[in-house]
Amino acid sequence: MTDPLGPASSAAPTGESANGGSRDFIRDQVEADLGSERFAGRVQTRFPPEPNGYLHVGHAKAICLDFTVASEFGGRCFLRFDDTNPATESPEYVEAIVDDVKWLGFEPDEVRFASDYFEQLYAWAEYLIERGLAYVDDQDAETISAGRGGFGQPGIESPYRDRSAPENLRLFREMAAGQHPEGSRVLRARVDMQHENMQMRDPVMYRIRHEHHYRSGDGWCIYPTYDWAHGQSDAIEGVTHSLCTLEFRDNRALYDWYLEHLPFAELGHAGDRPHQTEFARLELTHTITSKRILRRLVEVGHVDGWDDPRLPTLRALRRRGYPPSAIRDFCGFIGVARTNSRHAPELLESFVRTELNATAPRRMAVLRPLKLVITNWPTDDDGKPVVEYREAVNNPEDPSAGTRQVPFSGTLWIEQDDFRLEAPPKYFRLTLGREVRLRAGYFVRCTDAVTDPDGNVTEVHCTYDPETSGGQAPDGRKVKATIHWVSAAHAVPIEAALYERLFRTELPGEHTGDPLDDLHPNSRELCAGVAEPAVADIAPGQVVQFERLGYFCADNPGPDSPDAPFFHRTVGLRDEWANIQKRQQQQGVRR
Ligand code: ATP
Ligand code: MG
Repeated sequence: MTDPLGPASSAAPTGESANGGSRDFIRDQVEADLGSERFAGRVQTRFPPEPNGYLHVGHAKAICLDFTVASEFGGRCFLRFDDTNPATESPEYVEAIVDDVKWLGFEPDEVRFASDYFEQLYAWAEYLIERGLAYVDDQDAETISAGRGGFGQPGIESPYRDRSAPENLRLFREMAAGQHPEGSRVLRARVDMQHENMQMRDPVMYRIRHEHHYRSGDGWCIYPTYDWAHGQSDAIEGVTHSLCTLEFRDNRALYDWYLEHLPFAELGHAGDRPHQTEFARLELTHTITSKRILRRLVEVGHVDGWDDPRLPTLRALRRRGYPPSAIRDFCGFIGVARTNSRHAPELLESFVRTELNATAPRRMAVLRPLKLVITNWPTDDDGKPVVEYREAVNNPEDPSAGTRQVPFSGTLWIEQDDFRLEAPPKYFRLTLGREVRLRAGYFVRCTDAVTDPDGNVTEVHCTYDPETSGGQAPDGRKVKATIHWVSAAHAVPIEAALYERLFRTELPGEHTGDPLDDLHPNSRELCAGVAEPAVADIAPGQVVQFERLGYFCADNPGPDSPDAPFFHRTVGLRDEWANIQKRQQQQGVRR
């Protein structure tokens, strides 16, 4: 098992690292290539998603790497859809991916599609057939798979391997013309059935699929495999550095083999054939980054869609209020390595918190309201409680954010948690006889609590000290807690969602093999709360800090209370990452 905290976990996140700009073996290699005039001094990369789902945080690492390596070295980066599988792909995903890449902060030099290259790939397949380097195999998929043998086991050559080039060409053309049923034949590269690398044992290049493709329509009924499409698409576009994740390491030999046997020079790009380099995937504990399983979560209804804020998709992180710059900084911080590792989501969250701390306006909201009555609060001439406007700082980290006026009166909402009838040791908030400060308000001392027949506290009574208007007592007496509040007469109702990790275990599915067995049973808690009036003006997508509760991102109202602004908690305020580091250091000392 990999170290759950990953190799970079001992350093402190600063939030200041460039977006992926630190030194690593890939940048070293690109620099060396430029120095040696390999690729004629060009740098070109691509991000090649398959449009069969939404992008997730793992893809963010690849996107940051592909785009920043290109820009740092004055090169170009394309967004290329690897759309060779008609069954699972759709324009919905294409649009979402284009949008997500932009949201993350990158502008592709061009957007391309592997399906645009179907003609060229077909022509090159005939080129290989004519040279005896590809053949039509009539065996079914299971026989082909069995015939490839295994590690240390010999492969068995297909009885069709020595078909003549003209016969192969005729059959291949018939396949393309729709004259053969699905599964009846494939085109295979004729490489080496005894190669120690399984990828090289006559890999499949084309399969018959009588299926509609979302871009090429019904023009094709044979579709190229990933391996046949990928390197050739790189070559067509003039890619120099084809960066991909480690699971493709064994595919590199095949990547090179295809390009060696094709007339690459005819493409007219300056420099050498593209070269594939592999780097480690980004994995997070408590998190699934597999589109297949994410789709299952969506389809089975464990989450409300691809943008459910509990998911690690970019859509979801965006809806939850993660700033794209925080994701980029995180990717830069974890860096690029050649061994797989897993990071704690707390590390990503700490980048989010650092960013939001600097930018998010502060507001007051109460998520589990308890009524507080100030019994000595003055009334006006009509006998109505006086309303006072208190000045509150919008962002202590940013003086230019200014202040706002928050209405204050004799009846307030406070958090249930901020009062205890019986206070445990070290509980410094309200309890009978105790005095606390109300944020941007006065000192109040608790004189009484009203309970219902079950003993639940329904109302807290306090007196306030008018002398403490400035937040301090003139006699110098201190209070140990400051709590937030909302004036009851001015409160706007809000709804807020608080989230736990979607999966309870560090490695979902580790014990049963099915990640869905480890779903957290209550990963979302909905609260009907109240907030100060200014909260009504927060636009969907904007993030605020509700004082003492965390950062919250506004969304459109939810179905249960169509008039109340809805908020997702982005992250809490406490830096859990610091705790993890401390634990780790202690473990390190003990070891
Ligand atoms: P999934 O397994 O989630 O379906 P995938 O690898 O099939 O992901 P693609 O659309 O093929 O998804 O991925 C596009 C690019 O993103 C590839 O170059 C792939 O290497 C990279 N990528 C995918 N997952 C990760 C990850 N967890 N960390 C870093 N890069 C990733
Ligand atoms: Mg893939």
